[in-house]
Amino acid sequence: MRTTGGIHLGNYVGALTNWAALQDKYDCFYMLADWHALMSEYADPSVIMRSISEMVADWVASGIDPDRSAIFRQSDVREHAELHLILSCITPLSWLERCPTYKEQLRELAAKDVHNYAFLGYPVLQTADILLYKTSLVPVGEDQLPHIELAREIVRRFNFLYGREVFIEPKPALTKSARLSGTDGRKMSKSYGNAIEIGESPLQVREKVMNMLTDVKRVRLADVGHPDECNLYPYYEAFSPALTESVRALCVRAARGCTDCKRQLADELLAFLEPLRNRREEILSSGAVDSILRSGAEKARKIAAQTMSEVRQAMGF
Ligand code: SF4
Repeated sequence: MRTTGGIHLGNYVGALTNWAALQDKYDCFYMLADWHALMSEYADPSVIMRSISEMVADWVASGIDPDRSAIFRQSDVREHAELHLILSCITPLSWLERCPTYKEQLRELAAKDVHNYAFLGYPVLQTADILLYKTSLVPVGEDQLPHIELAREIVRRFNFLYGREVFIEPKPALTKSARLSGTDGRKMSKSYGNAIEIGESPLQVREKVMNMLTDVKRVRLADVGHPDECNLYPYYEAFSPALTESVRALCVRAARGCTDCKRQLADELLAFLEPLRNRREEILSSGAVDSILRSGAEKARKIAAQTMSEVRQAMGF
């Protein structure tokens, strides 16, 4: 995950709950992608540094267990940069130029100048991140599938060129969870300014919920609502599933206004977030972040170094 700020509710529902569940079945590596963040934040990298502790605290508060999974910072394992360089040499430019996420991300990060060399190669660095650990499964959303396909193509090319099965083709572990839109109805993203972060104060969370876009067809109080077209309703599904039936029933009969519906959602959300926020504060104030990152990096480095030695041998370097 790119270290460009705290975790938002979309990350929590779409990724972290799944990551936490995967720990029961797999040996997991979760990486704070600070070099990936640098591709857009190069002009002021301080935001990356500020985000790291917060992100570790958010992850652990959300159930990522540092005793079971490696939680580490990308730049602490220099092998990522070395493998990125090697894979950059064998990746045809056309594979990157046709990648559908490239144009989408340029749009998403329109406020930044990301027309740089590194940004086009973003999926190659991501491939290096995956391959260093001989990863079999990568937990991703559908929008990241082209990157996994590209990683598979790069694996085939590397193994073919150097005549050894150094890498295995990774597969996506698709996240089934619902997607939450941002407060304005667009994809939730820190760059759009429409995200609700789990570390935000109760006042900020309430304010954002009260300003959320709802069913655009419901103009007057007497108009019936359409929960399935409302930006707010999926939040109930994600955080208060027990209330969805009553919320739907009130909405489709126009028995309650959107302002009251938002007020109730804000109460529910704050109750849900309170233990997470407390745990997060505990982690931040205990100073545990440094030791979590240190032991995660040690675990990651051991495997990454072994993989790089196989890579160099295969290439005759
Ligand atoms: Fe959405 Fe609630 Fe308004 Fe219905 S009442 S449109 S679910 S905010």
